[in-house]
Amino acid sequence: MTDIALLRRTAHYIGGSWVDPAESHSPLVVTDASDGSTLGTVPDGSAADVDRAVDAARAAFPAWAALSPSERSGALLRVRDALAERAADASRIISLEVGTTARIADAVQVGLPLKTLAGFADAALHISEDQQLGNSTVAREPAGVVGAITPWNYPLHQLVGKAGGALAAGCTVVCKPAGVAPLSAFILADAIAAAGLPAGVFNLVSGSGSVVGTALARHPGIDVLSFTGSTAVGAEIAAAAATNITRVALELGGKSASVILDDVELERAVKTSVNNAFLNSGQTCSAWTRLVVPRAAQERVIEIAISVAEKLTVGHPLDPATRLGPLASAEQQSSVLDYIAKGEQEARLVFGGSSAPEGFAEGYYVRPTIFADVDNRSQIAQQEIFGPVLCIIPHDGDDDAIRIANDSAYGLAGGVWCADEGRALAAARAIRTGQVDINGGAFNPIAPFGGFKHSGIGREFGLLGVEEFTELKAIQR
Ligand code: NAD
Repeated sequence: MTDIALLRRTAHYIGGSWVDPAESHSPLVVTDASDGSTLGTVPDGSAADVDRAVDAARAAFPAWAALSPSERSGALLRVRDALAERAADASRIISLEVGTTARIADAVQVGLPLKTLAGFADAALHISEDQQLGNSTVAREPAGVVGAITPWNYPLHQLVGKAGGALAAGCTVVCKPAGVAPLSAFILADAIAAAGLPAGVFNLVSGSGSVVGTALARHPGIDVLSFTGSTAVGAEIAAAAATNITRVALELGGKSASVILDDVELERAVKTSVNNAFLNSGQTCSAWTRLVVPRAAQERVIEIAISVAEKLTVGHPLDPATRLGPLASAEQQSSVLDYIAKGEQEARLVFGGSSAPEGFAEGYYVRPTIFADVDNRSQIAQQEIFGPVLCIIPHDGDDDAIRIANDSAYGLAGGVWCADEGRALAAARAIRTGQVDINGGAFNPIAPFGGFKHSGIGREFGLLGVEEFTELKAIQR
């Protein structure tokens, strides 16, 4: 059982203390994805709370920026350790908020942020030293106060990606988690408090995007606004931040392609691609939701894909037998079901569909669904569905496959499967996305992550992500 105090949060974390909201509003209700019941509540903050948090972060900035890299690195390792002590609670809560299965919640929702924090502690020690260019010394300095606005699908990972990177760089932070899954952000604040970080270096204000998110995006006291979420909201945020010429980093949506070329053994390529598409019930920005396959192999690909999907037992996220949990919210479920209904008009449904999975009248469950013979120009191939829906798209050779992969407004991630190393690398270089995995290359938490085109601006994670939270200064002598 989870301690009720972790589920009923009544205060924001500002200036090193838990403080009551400036205005009294009804709290935001967080629902349990498995049955729609109330899981917890968090404060519905206001612009006044954002003002207080930004003031605290500004006040804390000079001393935090002046610490040595090894002091900041040590502080991040203490946060990592304090978060590790809370890992079981964080994993269970994220499973219930988001619908992530317990195994993936342990490994990805919580295990990955712990690794990432250790990576940031190391990166803090390796930020580029001053560089001499002619008569200039070029120095990297912390950029200032970072506003972090995060989504609900990997709530702790995305928050750690911003707050950890910013703190490593010497910046201070004000963050606003998504209303659908805000509770792990409070656990991170608990860990930061327990780790004894100086007051004001990390501040947390919960609330709606339209009030707290907008107040943060428009705030003149923010130096870098780092946002992860949908492309539509990212564009609004960039416009709001432009009022103060605030630098923005945007990690947005995706519609990534796994491209199978004609010389590979299909079994592993298809299995890995299908599991990638359905990770976290498809609520993954980098999911390979388009499987681009040789036309002659499509029917065999469908057979393998169905055999993988059949093993994705739908169920309660905390049941160890479950391989596919519910979606995070009623809105998400209804939007995904609408896309499946569109798909039934646009393409050939070969698995799943829009009917409710048996035995799940409550909760936000959707069946794993596969469409074949998908036209890449159709809506299900162009729009981010963010649910367990895979589009199989036939191609007519390498150039056609790459054309299809690039025929997208997005450019976040992708995969290439090819037995020939040179051909695989040529395809990977030709695909216009921020990440490409060849033959199932493993996710690397210290590699830069981010997108081309409508998938965003800037990169997060690892040393390159930390350096995005710095400014360059040229000093001439
Ligand atoms: P969203 O855009 O609806 O919300 C993201 C955050 O922005 C939330 O905290 C929300 O409260 C806030 N927000 C909403 N409207 C706002 C406004 N007008 N001003 C300021 N803040 C506002 O996204 P979501 O539904 O929470 O998350 C799903 C989306 O996130 C998907 O599109 C997914 O692809 C994307 N995502 C991208 C990455 C990446 O790294 N590229 C990672 C995860 C998720």
